[in-house]
Amino acid sequence: MNNKSALVLYSGGQDSATCLVWALERYERVETIGFDYGQRHRVELDVRETFRQRLGALSAKWGNRLGDDHLLDLQTLGQISDTALTGDAAFAAGRDGLPNTFVPGRNLIFMTYAGAIAWRRDIHVLVAGMCETDYSGYPDCRNDTLQTLTRAIGMGMAHEITLETPLMWIDKADTWAMAMQLGGDELIAEMTENTHTCYAGDRNTRHEWGYGCAACPACELRQNGWIKWQRSFNNSSTASARQRPMTGKQPTRSRNH
Ligand SMILES: [Zn+2]
Repeated sequence: MNNKSALVLYSGGQDSATCLVWALERYERVETIGFDYGQRHRVELDVRETFRQRLGALSAKWGNRLGDDHLLDLQTLGQISDTALTGDAAFAAGRDGLPNTFVPGRNLIFMTYAGAIAWRRDIHVLVAGMCETDYSGYPDCRNDTLQTLTRAIGMGMAHEITLETPLMWIDKADTWAMAMQLGGDELIAEMTENTHTCYAGDRNTRHEWGYGCAACPACELRQNGWIKWQRSFNNSSTASARQRPMTGKQPTRSRNH
C-alpha cells in the first residue's frame, strides 16, 4: 500500500495551508483538493493557488513534492445552504446555537469527494485542518465524526484510508507556532499575505496577521491566536516550550502597514 502520498483538503485558509506544509514535510508526494461551492467571496480560491505556487520558492523539497491540485465544482452546496457563507444572511447565532456560517454537512461532503479522488489517485492518507479546540461548535469538525466517516468511506470504496488532522487538538496560537516551526519567518510572511480566513472577504485591510475585517468570527479567531502566539515570545516564563519556534527567530512584528 502506498503510504508515501497524501491528499490535503486545502481551501486557501490558514489552517489548511498549515496542514499542506505539514504534509509536505512528511510525504514524498502531496496533492491538494479544493472546492468551489459558491462561497460569497472567491478570495480564498484566489489566494490558494498563489500560496501553492510560492511553496517551491520557500523550499525546493516542498516544490518537488507538491503534486496536482484538484479543484472541484460543488455549486450544488450553495443551492442547499442558505447561510452566511453562501448567501446574504448576517453573522448571528442560528439554530441549536450554531453560528449561521454553518453549512450543514459541508465537511462530510468534502471528505467524501476527497475519498473518491484518493481512490482515483491511489492515495491512502487524507490530511485535513479541522479542529475541535477553538472551533465554532460545528459537529462536522469533531474528531469522532471525521474518523467515523473516514472508516465508512474506506469501507464504501474498498480502499483503506487514514485521516491525519494535525490541528485537531491545538488552538490558533499553536497553529501559528506550527507554521513557524515548519518554515520560519518566510513561511509566516507567506501565511499572512497569501492565506485568507475572513468571512467578509476583506482583502483591503492589512494587519500583522493578514487581511481581514477583524470583526467576523473567523478574523477574531485568527487575530486572537496571533496575539496569544506573539505574547508567548515576550513572556518566556509562561510560554509553553511547544509554542516557541525551533528556529529561535522572532516573528516579524510590523509588515506592510
Ligand atoms: Zn473578517
